[in-house]
Amino acid sequence: MRSSRVRAGAVLVGAVVTAVTGCSSGSDDATTKTEDVVRPFKATPSASVAASPSPSAGQGRLVVSYEEPKKPADRRAEAFLKRTKALEGVARYADDIVALPYDVPLRAKSCGQVNAFWNPQTKDITYCYEFVDTLRQVYEKQETEGSAKERDAAVEQDLVGLTNGVLLHELGHGLIAMYDLPATGEEEDAVDQLSALLLASGDDEHQEYAIDTINAWSGLAEADAAGGIPANEYADEHSLDIQRFYNWSCWLYGSNPDAYKWIVESQGNPDGVLPEERAERCPDEFEKITHSWGTLLEPYLKDA
Ligand SMILES: [Zn+2]
Repeated sequence: MRSSRVRAGAVLVGAVVTAVTGCSSGSDDATTKTEDVVRPFKATPSASVAASPSPSAGQGRLVVSYEEPKKPADRRAEAFLKRTKALEGVARYADDIVALPYDVPLRAKSCGQVNAFWNPQTKDITYCYEFVDTLRQVYEKQETEGSAKERDAAVEQDLVGLTNGVLLHELGHGLIAMYDLPATGEEEDAVDQLSALLLASGDDEHQEYAIDTINAWSGLAEADAAGGIPANEYADEHSLDIQRFYNWSCWLYGSNPDAYKWIVESQGNPDGVLPEERAERCPDEFEKITHSWGTLLEPYLKDA
C-alpha cells in the first residue's frame, strides 16, 4: 500500500506533538505524473542550456565501494546497502543529471561516528555504516504499523530514501568544491536545497525519498529533544534538526503545492505541520532554488 501522504502527515505531526507514528510506505505504485512535476534539470532545457555538458564538465561518475565493517554491529548496514543497492541507485540518479570532472568515490565504511560527509582533501564521499544503523533506530520508532516483517520493509524503504537525500546533499558539497561554484549563503542550506530540488523534481519514487528524508529530520529532532541521541553524535557542520525538517517540508510543498497541500497546517487540514505563513513563501523559495542551482549547474548538466 502506498500511503505516503498519511504516513508523512502522521510523522510530521509527530515531530511537533509527541507520538511519532507512521504507516508503511511503498514504491509499488508505478504511476508517474511527470507532467505535473517540475523537472528543472532534465525536461525542458532552455535555448541557453547545452544539449551536452561543456568540455570542462568532465566524464566523471560516482563510484561505489564497500569497506569491510570494522565492527560486527556495522555488518547489518553493509548488508542492507548491498542488498538494496541504495548507493548504486543514487549514483546512477545523480550521474544521469550532472557531469563530474572526474570519478568521485562513494565509500560505505565504518567511521567510528554517525556521519556522512564529503572530504575536500580526498575528494570523495563517505557514508558511514553507523549513520545507517542510527537512522534505522529512528525509523523503527516511526514505523509502528503492520507485522514485524512489514515494519522492517518500511524501515528499509525509509533508509533507501534517506540515503538518497543525504548523499545528494554530500554531492552538493562536492560539486561546489570541484567546480568552485559561487554558491552564496550558508553552504549547508544550499546543498540541502540541491538535494531537495533533485528529489522533488524527480519521479514519484524520488519524491517519496524526499518524504523519507523529511521524516528522518523529524525523528532526529524528536530524539534530540528527548535526549536520545547526544548532540555530539552530529558534531560536524550539519544541523540535523527541526529547522531542516521545516525547510525540506517547505521545499517539497513549494515544488508542487497542489500535490503537497496536505503538508500545510490549516483549518481544513489540522494534521498539516507547515505553518501557513511559511507555506505561502514556499513556491517562491522553490522557484529561487531551482533558478539558483539551475544557473550554477547549467554547464554541467547532461542531456534532457
Ligand atoms: Zn553538509
